[in-house]
Amino acid sequence: MKVKKDWLDQLSQIELPKSYFVAGQYAESKHTYPITNPATAEFMVNMSACDEQEVNQAVEFARTVFKSGVWSNLAPRERKQKLKKLAELIRENAEELALLETLNVGKPIQDSLNVDIPGAASCFEWYAESIDKIYDEIAPTSNDQLAMIRREPMGVVAAIVPWNFPLDLASWKLAPALATGNCVVLKPAEQSPFTALKLAQLAKQAGIPDGVLQVLTGLGHITGQALGRHPDIDCLVFTGSTETAKKFLVYSAESNMKPVWPETGGKSANIIFADADLDQALDKAIFGAFYNQGEVCSANSRILLEHSISQQFIEKFIEKAKNIKIGHPLDPNTQMGCLIDRQHADNVRHAIEQAKVQGAKDYVIPLNLDEDLDPTTYIAPTVLTGVTPEFRIFHQEVFGPVVSITTFETQEEAIELANNSIYGLAASIWTKDIQKAIILSKQLLVGTVSINTVDALDVSTPFGGYKQSGYGRDLSLHAIDKFTQLKTTWIQL
Ligand code: ADP
Repeated sequence: MKVKKDWLDQLSQIELPKSYFVAGQYAESKHTYPITNPATAEFMVNMSACDEQEVNQAVEFARTVFKSGVWSNLAPRERKQKLKKLAELIRENAEELALLETLNVGKPIQDSLNVDIPGAASCFEWYAESIDKIYDEIAPTSNDQLAMIRREPMGVVAAIVPWNFPLDLASWKLAPALATGNCVVLKPAEQSPFTALKLAQLAKQAGIPDGVLQVLTGLGHITGQALGRHPDIDCLVFTGSTETAKKFLVYSAESNMKPVWPETGGKSANIIFADADLDQALDKAIFGAFYNQGEVCSANSRILLEHSISQQFIEKFIEKAKNIKIGHPLDPNTQMGCLIDRQHADNVRHAIEQAKVQGAKDYVIPLNLDEDLDPTTYIAPTVLTGVTPEFRIFHQEVFGPVVSITTFETQEEAIELANNSIYGLAASIWTKDIQKAIILSKQLLVGTVSINTVDALDVSTPFGGYKQSGYGRDLSLHAIDKFTQLKTTWIQL
């Protein structure tokens, strides 16, 4: 296994990307913004920041390439081969991609290497393998008519993604969009463009024609907004905050009414009954709350405990949280890295302070950071007990290693608490009584209910939410719907 020094040596041998990727080539923008390493506060690069004109050029090129048919008219089997090649190249370049991801966002290198990068490769492979196995339809019209219902690509798709799982979430959008024949303009989050830029090069190497995948780096309110308002984008897919998703709905309404598919925030409840396997529930509750520094839209950030087990559970939970190894993201022993940037970490600290002012009791696991790390972006796992729906933290998506604990007496109360949220992304139920779990799962207003696990997820199952968690569904064959138009062709016989 590579140790921190090996990763630092590898880093010294690669050139960090700083150009955006347009028409099959890297290009320098007129404008730039600085990117620093969130773990160490070291300056890394001045990244290209695309302006409206650069966005327009990329969209125009995407349109030309889409119309030319070099991608959209390929037989699905041919697109499949190129996307499978891309998956293979991602695997071949896994170490470099993992290094880039960890440098950008501060997540543990072992997570980048074993979860994020292989996850992206599998996603491309899965959609590549699906696309030549999906049939269209013939409608049950009368005998003297033949009505064919065919899926056609949307055309030019914009994908706007966040910084918590940069390559993974990009691949959730790109893989089905590309498999169905669209041209995609991807805008990574300003903090985390490195892996998307490397991916563009790998896509070219895989034989995907120039202009089918372009990566525009830049700031949300400039580059992102220009894409959102662009009159020649046919569809926009988004993962990020609920607040920004609402802006994209406005951009669409004020421009060409492009369909916008948001996948947004969450405040997922982890409901633990007294009859659960508590050892398993404890391990998974730690994972659900603190994995990826809690920077997960479906993080189980509200634990709802049946009152009779609450004291025992909280004590053990805090003991377990103390074992999480917090440290340098490039150290392979690190289980929790830093947050994305100082401003976000300050917001998280503020949310904790507010909860304490409202009366929550906090247990903060002590931080022991090495000198080469920036303490302003690190936040220790924090457990807030005594939280009720009157607390702001019960409702607020904190997006950090902060979990609040609320107790309940009855099943009805548990469901009422879980559903008391503007969000509805996910929930978990822990009980050995499967009958009870299934009945309750139907009452939860969320996109995914995990029973006796947390945050269950697979490329074959849809991921998305109810309410203000957005209505876009990523993953599974259902994601194909977002990227295709239904066309009816009617023949009178
Ligand atoms: P987070 O809160 O997770 O940082 P955001 O919703 O702010 O999520 O960001 C998700 C994506 O949306 C990023 O790519 C970001 O650049 C983009 N974005 C942020 N603000 C805007 C905006 N006003 N208009 C368009 N895009 C934006």
